[in-house]
Amino acid sequence: MTSELGVGRPTKRRPGAAVGGLPVADSRPVLDRSDDGGDAVLGVRCTACRYPAAQTGIPWCPACYAPVAPERFAVTGTAWSSTVVAIRVGQRRPPFGLAYLDLDDGPRVLVHLAEPAVVPIGTRLRITGTDDGDLVASA
Ligand SMILES: [Zn+2]
Repeated sequence: MTSELGVGRPTKRRPGAAVGGLPVADSRPVLDRSDDGGDAVLGVRCTACRYPAAQTGIPWCPACYAPVAPERFAVTGTAWSSTVVAIRVGQRRPPFGLAYLDLDDGPRVLVHLAEPAVVPIGTRLRITGTDDGDLVASA
């Protein structure tokens, strides 16, 4: 049997309801504030290739289409990149900091920084909470 990766699968995201498209799930990572097990970023991990995704409710692995299982990822990691945004974005007033954070045992997630400053690549960050649904991290 020959098959080409992606053929026959929905691979394109539709715009959300806010721009007139079909409603879609909020794809932002979810922080689970737990008293007993500790905080965790919720997501899934592929049962075949172990690919991690910081998104719940997806039906199959984004990399290989195998089944996925629920997973809890660490709230700590290292900064892959960061920037300070100097324009208004939605209700966000500039300046504010953004970073891509490689979670220690999981995927790369976008986080808002507690302070509007660039952090060096490799900086240790911890997700401390959420702000209007977005993850917030600080050094
Ligand atoms: Zn996979």
